[in-house]
Amino acid sequence: MKHTADVIVIGAGIGGLTAAALLQERGISTLTVEKNRYPGGSCASFTRNGYVFDAGASVFYGFSPDDKKGTLNLHSRIFRRLGLEVPAVPDPVQIHYHLPGGLEVPVYYEQERFLGELFRRFPHEKEGIRRFYQELEAVYALLSALPAGSLEDPVHIAKVGVGNPGKTAALALKTFKSMGKTARKYITDPELLRFIDMESYSWAVQDAVSTPLVNAGICLADRHHGGIHYPLGGSGVIPRALAEGIEKFGGELLYGREVQRIIVNKGRAEGVVLDNGEELYARAVVSNATVWDTCNRLLGDDRYRVPEGRFLRAPSWFQMYLGVRSEAVPAGFHVHHILVDDWQRYDEHGGTIYLSAPSILDRSLAPEGRHVVHAFVTDETVRWEHLERGSDAYRQAKEDYADKLMQRIERIMPGLREAVEVRVLGTPQTHERYLNRFKGSYGPLLHPGQNVLQKPQNRTAVKELYAVGDSTFPGQGVIAVTYSGVSCASCISRKLGKPLEYL
Ligand SMILES: Cc1cc2nc3c(=O)[nH]c(=O)nc-3n(C[C@H](O)[C@H](O)[C@H](O)COP(=O)(O)OP(=O)(O)OC[C@H]3O[C@@H](n4cnc5c(N)ncnc54)[C@H](O)[C@@H]3O)c2cc1C
Repeated sequence: MKHTADVIVIGAGIGGLTAAALLQERGISTLTVEKNRYPGGSCASFTRNGYVFDAGASVFYGFSPDDKKGTLNLHSRIFRRLGLEVPAVPDPVQIHYHLPGGLEVPVYYEQERFLGELFRRFPHEKEGIRRFYQELEAVYALLSALPAGSLEDPVHIAKVGVGNPGKTAALALKTFKSMGKTARKYITDPELLRFIDMESYSWAVQDAVSTPLVNAGICLADRHHGGIHYPLGGSGVIPRALAEGIEKFGGELLYGREVQRIIVNKGRAEGVVLDNGEELYARAVVSNATVWDTCNRLLGDDRYRVPEGRFLRAPSWFQMYLGVRSEAVPAGFHVHHILVDDWQRYDEHGGTIYLSAPSILDRSLAPEGRHVVHAFVTDETVRWEHLERGSDAYRQAKEDYADKLMQRIERIMPGLREAVEVRVLGTPQTHERYLNRFKGSYGPLLHPGQNVLQKPQNRTAVKELYAVGDSTFPGQGVIAVTYSGVSCASCISRKLGKPLEYL
């Protein structure tokens, strides 16, 4: 059997691309197969009528130019390794929260300024606020001190453990802690605890008690160190640069082709079957699909099925991409916003509105005198499946729902509805169809109380089949799936006898 490449990667999301780029740079040949005609998955960009929209992600960690700042600073280090430049501008506010009861909290890059906002609203909790956020800082300090590698690579574990015994032990203990339970040790004010739930829900789609403290230490501390950046040209420049890196070192990307099956022989992955029936073979296969799509569809063997209830399935999204005249964007408007009208409904579908207007930082994304706005809420395929895709009824239901959301957004963007020139809408079905994600899900979540290390790592039950992306440790988010790409490449490169050097 002739190998097409050392490693075949299924999917050009950030997880798959990162693994492929690092392997390729190390001299391990890769072929990445992507069903769409462009790379990036949830981190791609698309253009409509002169507006450049981020398909999903807009808040980016890991771009600090200073390696002494930022948890691992992965984007900067990877692009440096690949010899590529991806210019990004700092974003002074991670998220501006607009919450019930007039609670307004912009999360500034400067931590003292952010904490000052909380002290002003909750003076009686000043000491508790400080101690809670200090706990996150302690996790951040431990994480930043340890190099990125695979937790399944015994050599990496031994190096990290022997080189940093105290820090490794301290971090291991923290993996048992929950963000919400830690907050409750120091804070009792119910409104402040709700804010902390929102701090978690904004990226983990779970309340704080269900969210591991270690993940919170990255998201809620690194924003004050490495900070949030926006890549000039839109989210899609990140996957395009990774693809460029793969090709620069001789790797191949095959767009517009879907993998239909993973070839397994005697418990070992040997290659893939494409949608045109072609069979491709390799020494190892990496799947960037979700755990349900990899195990239940691409393997198609009951022995490998993911048991019902093994994970919580995060919801999907209803998304609105708006091209608007500038009068809809108030003076001094921050880029990223979260809007909740009613605490009782924040975690119901549509209860929390996420909104980004990245053209505030990058004028190249919209025509003169215009802005792009991306707003989205959690949703489920089941709410839309009674409507036939492409039918008038489906279209009307989308428009009606979008109108209601826009009305709510007018609380922070008065006059939005009159200012819209382009409106593109996507249901959970759209998300499922574009990205081959089971029920359009944001990915698997751990059950409350589970240790973060129970998230699947890169190895799977099938030999030489690896997983990468948001179904694997540490989880959802562009920086998290980048980490999973690094750890996957470390694991495979060690196996193939060409171990990666630390970034
Ligand atoms: C609306 C929204 C907003 C978000 N906002 C942020 C944010 O602000 N900041 C942040 O850090 N994160 C954000 N995220 C999360 C982040 O975008 C994702 O966690 C991350 O991009 C997922 O990357 P991935 O590589 O795991 O998978 P994906 O992005 O899903 O990529 C997988 C790729 O594999 C391809 N594929 C799947 N199956 C096959 C197959 N059989 N054959 C060929 N190709 C296949 C898909 O087409 C896709 O391109 C957001 C996500 C969404 C949806």
